[in-house]
This record gives sequence, C-alpha cells and structure tokens, in this order.
Amino acid sequence: MAQRLETGVAAQDSREGGYFPNKLVRLLLFSLEDVLGSNSLRAVLTLARLPELAEQALPPNFEPALSFSEVAQLNAAIDEMHGTRSGQQLSLRAGHAVFRHGIKDFGGLLSVADVAFRILPLSFRVRLSMEVLAEILNRYSGQHVRLTETPESYLWIVERCAICWGLQVAAPACSIVTGLLSETLYWASGGRSFQVEEVTCAGLGDPACMFRIGRAPSVTA
Ligand SMILES: [Zn+2]
Repeated sequence: MAQRLETGVAAQDSREGGYFPNKLVRLLLFSLEDVLGSNSLRAVLTLARLPELAEQALPPNFEPALSFSEVAQLNAAIDEMHGTRSGQQLSLRAGHAVFRHGIKDFGGLLSVADVAFRILPLSFRVRLSMEVLAEILNRYSGQHVRLTETPESYLWIVERCAICWGLQVAAPACSIVTGLLSETLYWASGGRSFQVEEVTCAGLGDPACMFRIGRAPSVTA
C-alpha cells in the first residue's frame, strides 16, 4: 500500500509542467497516425517509452493522459527516428491534421470552418481564428498561449510549451504548432496560405516558444 502511494506521488511530480487530457492526446495520436502510418507510430511510441498508447484508443474525456514531459518525449522520438529535419516536417504535417481532426472534437474550431464566418473581413477572421485556438489550448492543454501583434506580424507566444518541455534542441522543435496554426489560418481565410515560423523555442533556452505569422496571406504562384 505504502509503495503504491509512493508511486502515485512520483507520477504527480513528473506532471509538474501540466498535462494533456485524453481527448487531446487521442487527437494527437490520430493525427500522427495519419502522417506516420500505424507501424511507424507504434515504433515512435515505443521509443518514447509510451508503448501502452498503441494498445487502445483513449476515451474522449478530459482526464489527464500525458504529462508535458511525455508529450515532449513523443515529439523527440519522432525526430530521433526520422532525423531532426524529416521529423519536424512530419510533425508539421501532423499539426495540419490536428486541426482537421479537431474540428469535430473541439466546438470552437468548427466556427472557424463555418460558412457564416466567411463573410467577415479577412483580417478579422485571421485574428479571431487564432484567438479561438488560443482559448481552446489555454482551457484544455495546460499551456499558456497568448496572441499579440506588431505592424508586420502576429506573434503567437507559448509560455509553458508542452511540445518541447524539458528538451534541449539545436533548432526550434515545435513544428506541430506551426502546422496547427497554418491549417487554422487556411480554414479561416477560405484556403489561403500564411507564413508561420517558430522564431524562438524554449528548447533552445528561450523564455518561450514564439511563432511569427504574416498579417497577410503569402503570395502564391
Ligand atoms: Zn515549444
């Protein structure tokens, strides 16, 4: 009994950064499976020391599922298995999938994809879509997200970023967020692409992860 109690305390300590709930981890895993395929996802989960996640789908509730360190472990395992550059490219694509799958799970995102939303001015839709996303993440992910702007860009700032929690990396490591933001803006703008770039990363020793987003869609050929 005493031993079980001790284990429980240790588990709580490792959650010091916060946790992602089942519903969010379930969405993350569906999205990673889309991009990696189920065999590669299983290998990544084993490498991340989270093999139990491959066994059965998590229930769609808000009970704690993964600590921030475990979320970061998962991110790091993708890079370790595929190399940093390809790993981050895969995470970027998974971030796009998170929005698409998340539409049915997180009501606020649906409004971004709603036809009625499309009649609002573009700059309004861009700003509002990111505010909706920030609110969802602040409410359900335990991270601290805020949106600010400069004359040229929006800045998406994540204090307590789970994606790189406790990691030490050589290049910005939170491409899944870049992908999520790009896809959100794509839907909000009715199919336009915006430049999104992670300019600081806590994994590099910066105080927060910051993403710079162009105020206007990029010009496409
Ligand atoms: Zn980060």
